[in-house]
Amino acid sequence: MHNAAIAALGLNFVYVPFEVAPEALEAAIRSLPALGIVGVNLTIPHKIRVLPLLDEVEPNAMAIGAVNTVCCRNGKLYGCNTDGAGFFEPLCAIGTKLADTIRGEQVFVLGAGGAARSVVFRLVQEGARVVLANRSLERAQRLAQDVLDAGYSADCLRVLPLEPIAPLAEAIADSRMLVQTTRVGMHPDIEDLPSLPLEALHPGLLVYDLVYNPVETRLLREAEKRGCQTLSGVRMLVGQGAESFRLWTGISPPIEIMEAAVLANLSNGNRIPNKIAVS
Ligand code: NAP
Repeated sequence: MHNAAIAALGLNFVYVPFEVAPEALEAAIRSLPALGIVGVNLTIPHKIRVLPLLDEVEPNAMAIGAVNTVCCRNGKLYGCNTDGAGFFEPLCAIGTKLADTIRGEQVFVLGAGGAARSVVFRLVQEGARVVLANRSLERAQRLAQDVLDAGYSADCLRVLPLEPIAPLAEAIADSRMLVQTTRVGMHPDIEDLPSLPLEALHPGLLVYDLVYNPVETRLLREAEKRGCQTLSGVRMLVGQGAESFRLWTGISPPIEIMEAAVLANLSNGNRIPNKIAVS
């Protein structure tokens, strides 16, 4: 998607993947300014381990505890996290417009892993009330504690276990949006459904599944059948990439071209590789 945007804008950059072993991360990161690289994206496990290697980390990335974008400026390394922006960007789009009205609304978030952390921090920043459920209750409670430690009020986040089902159903019925952040339903297990009370899905609900492969998950199909609005994780993938692109180049990229490149790649059955950008 980055190379498609670079070509469309006629810029002299290229985006390439590097496979970096965990023990080589420090050497790889420290070499970026000398190589003239303007920035990189990082994936697991580097996005957490890179934190102490950077000159500056934006407060949002520090609170989330992960950096997915590094910018090299004047020989210094700045760490950012664009997942929250990527998650939120489609909610500002025509047809959803949830971004304008999210304040005070209840949002049900399933999952408490890395993606959930960016989503939950962004939602509480925007004034939403979050109900958080996860298979491992302890992990959800840890995320809730980190939100409190970042200075947010206890009123903005409630944790629920996946059992019993009745409180989950009630929370979903009272929600404006449901965000699915777990790996359930990801390729190749595309017929898997998260353990949620599907009967609680209602036409006033936007169901946002962060899984982007497949583009339309079984959960999204079930939600559509019940009259919900739906959003695919492809939109977040493109949104976080577009935000990284802006940070590296100072230029807003053509989102539709990036999205078309991702969709073409996914429909060819290609895996999206780990990747690093080079100028
Ligand atoms: P992660 O940190 O490993 O977290 C995985 C989450 O999935 C945890 O909440 C985990 O629950 C839950 N989980 C895994 N297997 C499960 C199962 N069988 N039943 C119930 N829960 C299960 O992963 P991540 O980085 O957050 O990524 C999660 C998903 O989001 C992936 O599908 C990834 O592709 C997607 N994602 C999309 C974007 C995007 O731009 N669209 C960005 C980031 C991630 P426990 O805590 O109980 O283990």
